[in-house]
Order: sequence, then C-alpha cells, then structure tokens
Amino acid sequence: MSYRIVSLIALLCLLCRAADAQQQQTIVLHNGKVITADDSFRICQAIAVRGNRILAVGTNEEILKKAGAGARRIDLRGRAVIPGLIDAHAHALGAGLSELRGPMPRIHSIADMQAYIREQAVKLGPGKWIFVPRTFPTRLVEHRMPTRADFDPVSPDNPVLYDASYTVVVNGYALKQAGITRDSKPPATGEIGKDAKGEPNGILRGAASLLKAPAEHSGYTEQEKLEGLGAIFKRYNEVGITTTTERAATVDDVRMFETFRKTARMNARLHVTIRFDATQPVEEVERQIQSLPWKPNSGDEWLKINTLKVTLDGGMTIGTAYQRQPYGPFARTLYGHENPEFRGLLNIAPEKLACIVLAAHRLGWQFTAHSVGGGAMDALLDAYEKANAVRPVAASRMLITHGNFPDQRSIRRCRELGVIMDAQPAWLYKDSPMLAKVFDDKVMSLFLPLKAWQEGGVLVAGGSDHMIGYDSFAANNPFNPFQAIWIAVTRKTEAGTVMHAEQRISREDALRLFTRNAAFALFEEKTRGSLEPGKLADLVVLSDDLLTCPEDRIRQIQAALTMVDGRIVHEMRQ
Ligand SMILES: [Zn+2]
Repeated sequence: MSYRIVSLIALLCLLCRAADAQQQQTIVLHNGKVITADDSFRICQAIAVRGNRILAVGTNEEILKKAGAGARRIDLRGRAVIPGLIDAHAHALGAGLSELRGPMPRIHSIADMQAYIREQAVKLGPGKWIFVPRTFPTRLVEHRMPTRADFDPVSPDNPVLYDASYTVVVNGYALKQAGITRDSKPPATGEIGKDAKGEPNGILRGAASLLKAPAEHSGYTEQEKLEGLGAIFKRYNEVGITTTTERAATVDDVRMFETFRKTARMNARLHVTIRFDATQPVEEVERQIQSLPWKPNSGDEWLKINTLKVTLDGGMTIGTAYQRQPYGPFARTLYGHENPEFRGLLNIAPEKLACIVLAAHRLGWQFTAHSVGGGAMDALLDAYEKANAVRPVAASRMLITHGNFPDQRSIRRCRELGVIMDAQPAWLYKDSPMLAKVFDDKVMSLFLPLKAWQEGGVLVAGGSDHMIGYDSFAANNPFNPFQAIWIAVTRKTEAGTVMHAEQRISREDALRLFTRNAAFALFEEKTRGSLEPGKLADLVVLSDDLLTCPEDRIRQIQAALTMVDGRIVHEMRQ
C-alpha cells in the first residue's frame, strides 16, 4: 500500500473519530430543578447527556464529576427541566401545510367567513373552489352552524366549502354542481341537511363524498410537504414538543414520511397512525390491512408506524358525535339539527367494526377509532371485547381516540381491557361551555373526566388534535402543551368558567399526560417520557417552574431550551 493511501486512510479515521467525539459530546445542565417524571417523580439538581442519550441525573457534584472536565456546561440558574413533551394526537402534515404558503385568516364568525369568501372570489376568479378554513360552530360568535343562505349572497360564481371536519357546509353553486336536490339520497351513514321547505340547506353531515371537490392536500408537491413538516416541527420545538403523532395518515403519506426521515434532519420524532376509509366493504378494508407493507411498531426512534384507525362517528362540535341520548333542543340552533331526537352518526355498523378490529388485532396492530360520543365508545368497546375473546388486547394497547363522553361502565370496561384514552384537554377549554348548553349536567360531569379516568385505573395520553395554524394558542386546535396542562389542572374554559372542578388533576399527573402516559401509548416508555439514564436525550428547560409557579402562570410557561437527541433545537431569545 502506498504511503499516500495509508495517510489518506489515517486522515479519514481521524475525521471519523472527530465526528464521533462531536456526536458523543457530553452536556451537563446543572444548578437547576430536574423534574425526572420517573416512577417516584424524583427531583434532581443536574442532568448529563452524552451523545443522544441521558447519561445520569443527580446532584450538581455527582453529575459534574461524572461528566468530566471536557463536558459543556449549561448553568440552569435554578430553572426547571422536564422530559421532552409528547403530543399523542396531532395532524402534523396538514398542520405543516396549513400556513406554508402564507398566514391563514382567523375565522371567529360567520361574518368572517363571508368576508373571506368575497375576497377569495375576486382573487381566484369564477368557477374555482373556495375553502373556508376549518373551525367549529361551538367556536363561532354566532354559536350556530352556517347554511348556504349565509354563503350564497357572497358567492354567486364559485363553489364554496366550509369544512367543519366530518360535516361540511356548501353553497348553492356547489350543490348544483354535484346535482344534489331535495330528492337526492344521502350515503348510507350520512345526512343531507334540509331547510323548512325540504330543500338542501348546504349542510352535509358525513356526506361530503357527494361533492365534486378536490381532495385535501392534493394541491401540494412532495417538496412542499417536506417543507411543511420541517416548519411545523420547528413550531413544536418552540413549545417543548419533541415527539409528535400523525393520527390520520394514508399509505402514501407514510411513504412521504419515510422520504422525510431519509433526507431531512428531523427535529422532532414522528409516530404514525394509518387511517382506513371504513365506508368501503369490510373485505376491502381487511384486504388493505393485510397487504400493508409495514409491521406493527416498525421504524426507528425518529419515525414509527404504530397504529391503525377508522372514523367511527362524527364530532361533538358539529353535532354528529354518536351519543347515548338525543342532542335535545339547543342542538337545533348550534348544529342546525332538524330532528330533536337525533343522536349523531355511527359510520360503521357494529358487526363490521368487530371484523375490522379483529383483522388488525390478528396481525398484532394497535388499533384506534375516532369515537367522540358515548354511543360510539360503547360500540368500540364491544368490538375490543370480541377481539379480547380471541386473544387479550391489553398487550396491543388499544386506544380510544377522543372518547369525550364516558360513563362509569365504559371506564370500568377500559380498565378491564387495558384500553388507553387518546384525549385532548384543549377541547374542554374551547368547547365545553357550549356543550353544557346541549347536554345535561349528568353527561357533562363525565366530560373529559381526567380524575375519573385516573381513579378508574385508565391511562390517559395527552394530545392536541392540532390540524391547522402555526400559532400554538390560536391554532385549530391549540397545540400549546403548557396550556393543555393548565387546563387539566384548572378545568378553566375560554368563557371564564370552571367545568366540573372535581375532575381536576395534579400538576404532576397533568405533566404525565404529555410524558410517560403518551410514551406508553406509543410503545416508547423504554426510550422516553422520563429523564432517566439510558433514555433518549429529549428534554425541555422551562421559563418558569411548572410545579410551583402560580396556577394561572402555567399556561404562559415557555420552552427556554429544547433538546432532541442530545442536540439543542430551540433556544428562547433572552
Ligand atoms: Zn384528529
């Protein structure tokens, strides 16, 4: 071997070792309050990180000694450190794209919608679809569902669609284009809203498939999708989120996430749920489950495919969640219901749901269904019980997504089956005052009942259901985890009320929703969710002490520093 080649190899080795050393750099955060969120909720002074793992937690003296002289030191000056926060329910892709091309207008009223439609009609020209950004009637100042009568005067030449999620409202132009008349038949599990004269009023409950509208995200290139993910991960880091979840991906979305994993430096870890269209014949859904190219929990510590999902009912903010009881009179105004006996929409017949759950369970998948109403939750638990008779479901950590209206019986069944709740405290803050006008106090006493879940021995994973918007408080839904923790601790609402104070939980337990509990729901309790040696170096330094600051300051806590995989990915400007 020539001298030149030997020295080249030596140089390469040196470079490799330098890169290794860089990767293995030790960082010590000392002189602070390290809230480990481990089993005994140990509080320490310091934490050391080596490479992408936590090396040790302990006293200042112990940790500085262990880390050695060459370690980089960060003086916390008394500040608190918590494990990197995990959002167990988001729609990272849609959220990332939502403001990629520019800020979206904030819609607070039907008047805002009309102004937006007018502006878009001029901008886009005749015939082009106008999509009103998503919000819910519970969050509009008018507290009612709009109808075509609100849209028609401002949109004579364009089809308009307001997507309230599972329920859409369209104008006369769009109805005409789709050929929807008073005689049209709705899909098997949907409804065409009608006015007093029996004419379609533009509200389509679970019936958007009748329209000739382009699919969501269809106008974006792959490059934009990758950029959108990067952009939203940055926002997540800014509020201390280090792991997020995509709760409704298509198979194509998963392939795109794989490209993202290979080509980008990810600043947050992503867990994926694949959602199936359960309106297809059951054999087709089963075939799709069986032919998935991924195994349950495949991937690595950056990207994992965990869960399969279907959409079992509608939403509580749009009056289609499938409840145990009728919605009652106020639903006529709030949701535009015509029938006071209406209980909501169950999209999947119980026998079909049982077959789908079993197909997923046989292959070892964790399963979840969007099931908001109590009736939907009962149907899902029936399906889990049937699957449990074949083989216990607890090991698969089956989930209930949303599950906002349990009763004592469903709480007991969840515990018996080892079913985990995928819950979003922000809904309580935003929507519970309006829901309290729809449902009686008995129902509301167990609305998002964090304490009852806990006392009933049911694990709750915290999430945001973030869909659109980059601002952590103004987004739909808000994704600020400190606000979510504050809501869990106080049960305060946007209207300034307190919703069933007896369901409040402690600060420690509220933090667990977004750390250990969420980690367990994602099968990641060995890698994250607490600050313990050997776990991934994902952590957050806080602007204020979560455990001792005045209660109302919890929601204003900021991530002073966010670390993912031993790298500082966000630092607050001083
Ligand atoms: Zn969702």
